Amino acid sequence: MPSIRLLSRLASAFTTPRSPEDFLRLVDPLASARQLRGLVTSVVPETADSVTIRFRPGKGWNAHEAGQWARIGVEIDGVRHWRSYSLSTGAGQDPAITVTAMGKVSTALVRGTRRGDVLFLAPPEGDFVLPERPRPLLMLTAGSGLTPVMSMIRTLVPRRADADLVLVHSSRSPEDSLFREELLELADQFPGFRLVQWFTGERGRRLDLAGTGDLDAACPDWRDRAAYACGPAEFLDAAEALWQREEGELRVERFAAVVAPGSGGEGGRVTFEKSDTEVEADSATTLLAAGEDAGLMMRSGCRMGICHACVTPLLSGQVRDTRTGEVHGEPGHLVQTCVSTAAGPVSLDA
Ligand SMILES: Cc1cc2nc3c(=O)[nH]c(=O)nc-3n(C[C@H](O)[C@H](O)[C@H](O)COP(=O)(O)OP(=O)(O)OC[C@H]3O[C@@H](n4cnc5c(N)ncnc54)[C@H](O)[C@@H]3O)c2cc1C
Repeated sequence: MPSIRLLSRLASAFTTPRSPEDFLRLVDPLASARQLRGLVTSVVPETADSVTIRFRPGKGWNAHEAGQWARIGVEIDGVRHWRSYSLSTGAGQDPAITVTAMGKVSTALVRGTRRGDVLFLAPPEGDFVLPERPRPLLMLTAGSGLTPVMSMIRTLVPRRADADLVLVHSSRSPEDSLFREELLELADQFPGFRLVQWFTGERGRRLDLAGTGDLDAACPDWRDRAAYACGPAEFLDAAEALWQREEGELRVERFAAVVAPGSGGEGGRVTFEKSDTEVEADSATTLLAAGEDAGLMMRSGCRMGICHACVTPLLSGQVRDTRTGEVHGEPGHLVQTCVSTAAGPVSLDA
C-alpha cells in the first residue's frame, strides 16, 4: 500500500507549479483572492450594435444602486483593458451592462462575449442615482446614455405607485433605440411613466436644447421636475447651459471626460521607465492611451478623471490636464494618466 508521503509527493508532482487557487478556479471560475470576477450568464442583443451582458459577480461585489456604474476589465491580445459601464438592471436585480460597439473594448465586448465567459470587475460606484424621496422627474437621454436611466426606470416605475417620471430619449431611429419594446410596455402599463421618443432620422434634426421650444412641447412642466441627463458631450453641454440659464436642478452623467477648449498643447516624447518603453504622443493622446497603444499594461479606471485608479508618479517633465488645459507637474507628483497629455518630454514611473 503506498505511504501518505508517496501519495503527497505524487499529488505535488501533478499539481506543481499550479497554486491551490488555480485548481479552485477550475471548479469555480469566480474564485480569486486578488481580482473580483463575474461569470457571464447571458448575452442578449439590443440593437445591431449593442448587447446586454448579464453576469453573476463573485465575492467582493456590492449590490448596485440604480444609476451606478462599474469598471469592467477585458483581455484583448493579452492586455487587460478597463472601461466603465453603467449597470442597466434595476436595483436588487442581477447586474448587467448594456454596451454599444464604438471602439476597441466595446466592440470586443459586443461581438466577442459569450455565456460562460469571465469578466474582471470592480465594485459599483457613482452618485448619478435616484433622489432619496419621490419627486417628479425628467430624464433626458440620447443614444447609449439611456443605460443608467433605464436602471432607474426599472427600479422606480414598476415598484412605486407614486412614481412620476417623464423620459425624453433621443436616438437615430426606432431600430437604434435601446430597450424600446420594454419602455413602450412600461408606458402602457404605468400611468406614472411617460415616454417621449425623439428619432432624429424621422424629425430631420436633433432635440434642440439651445432653446426651450422642444422641451416645452415634450414635457410642459419640465421646470418643475428634478432633471437627469446622460448622452453625448454636446447634448450634455447644451442641457447644462440651459438649466444654468433657467436656474433649474440638473444631474449629469458623462461617459467621457470634458476636454477644455484649446487645451491641446504640444505633446512630446513619453518614457515609461519601468517598462523600458518610449513613444511619441501628440497633444490629443492621453498618457494612458499612449501607454496602451504601445502594448503596456497601464493601470486605468473610469478614463475621465474621476476614480484615480490610473494615477502614476511623474519622474520628469510636465503634463497638461485635458479638462482645464493647465500645465503642471513636479518629479514625484502623481498624475492622472487618463486626463493628462504630454507637455513636452515626460518620464513616468510605469
Ligand atoms: C461612468 C461611465 C459609464 C458608462 N456607461 C456606458 C454604458 O452603459 N454603455 C456604453 O456603451 N458605454 C458606456 N461608457 C463608455 C465606455 O466606458 C467606453 O468609453 C466606450 O465603450 C468606448 O470604449 P472603447 O474602448 O470601445 O473605445 P476607445 O477605443 O477607447 O475609443 C473610441 C473613440 O470613441 C470615443 N468615445 C468613447 N465613448 C464615447 C461615447 N459614449 N460617445 C461618443 N464617443 C465616445 C472615444 O473618445 C474615442 O475617440 C461609460 C463611461 C463612463 C465613464
